[in-house]
Amino acid sequence: MNAAINHAEPLYREKLHAAAEALENFSGPIYVVTHVDPDGDAVGSSLGLALALEAMGKEVFWICQPPRYLQFLAGDYRNSPPISQVPEGALLVVLDAAEPSRVEGAPVEGYVINIDHHGTNPRFGDISVVDPSKAATAQIVKDLVDALGVAWTPAIATPVLAGMITDTGNFAFANTTPELLRTAADLIAQGVAYAELTDRLKWRPPGYFQLMGKVLSTVEFHFGGLLVTAHLPPGLQGENGAEEDSDDFVGTIRYAEGSLVAVFLRERGPDTKLSIRSRGRVSAQNIAVKLGGGGHVPAAGATLRGMGLSDAYGRLLPVVEEELKRAGYL
Ligand code: 5GP
Ligand code: MN
Repeated sequence: MNAAINHAEPLYREKLHAAAEALENFSGPIYVVTHVDPDGDAVGSSLGLALALEAMGKEVFWICQPPRYLQFLAGDYRNSPPISQVPEGALLVVLDAAEPSRVEGAPVEGYVINIDHHGTNPRFGDISVVDPSKAATAQIVKDLVDALGVAWTPAIATPVLAGMITDTGNFAFANTTPELLRTAADLIAQGVAYAELTDRLKWRPPGYFQLMGKVLSTVEFHFGGLLVTAHLPPGLQGENGAEEDSDDFVGTIRYAEGSLVAVFLRERGPDTKLSIRSRGRVSAQNIAVKLGGGGHVPAAGATLRGMGLSDAYGRLLPVVEEELKRAGYL
């Protein structure tokens, strides 16, 4: 279990420049990967960096399969298939992945640059630029592309901005700092179709809305309403991509008045995946770490191996209770 280090990286500029220099001087193939179940920041930060490296004339392989609601971000740019081995002499850039085991598409081996903003990141890799004071990994990519001296185009700026929009909940969460807003403004000034982008990021297929009805019928309150839970009803996992559409439901239930913790559960094979959100003095990160996962203080996740839904609820409730007590709410 990793102890979280949530403060800003004191050597941010130095590390950023070390990463930029390593990329600039490298002439071999560069593999760009991100975390399993890629979200807007995972897709946006990895795609933005891949496009910037392409613009520098590098040989780039972007290994990422975006969920269907984010596929528009890639436009004509082709992703590459997963690899089981990083070729000798290649460089691997890992973005937004809180730990090596969450990286999808390539093993974490060879020369590795780790760019992330999760406090629970163990700072793996030959160069790691991990700064939890950044709202999004995409915010670090903005600085990195600037350091690389690549000219911004709408095509590069759009996915990077998308990462910032999604990880801040449309510039709403506590991670929305003045610096983040200035960075976003810089990107919008590069010709991003901003309203079109924010609109498009919220599009979901018709089945999503029917699925939401079924998910919301599972909402339950615990500890006098301090915890709100919901789950993907069993049997719907495979139904028209229900799994990838269910990403955002925790973002709906988290607004239950009086709740301090929201957890969305979904079975995946023999395991159950939890998405956890918190407010006030409650730490979703503490809850996730106790369950073997990680993430940010207000937004974290974990996968309970070998547990179905009812076992997962049984494992979750005492851990939330403990955190509510620690925070002085129970
Ligand atoms: P989500 O609930 O959206 O899947 O994840 C919330 C945050 O927690 C994200 O930043 C995500 O990267 C992180 N996270 C989710 N699941 C896990 C996990 O199993 N382990 C770790 N270390 N982080 C996770
Ligand atoms: Mn992120």
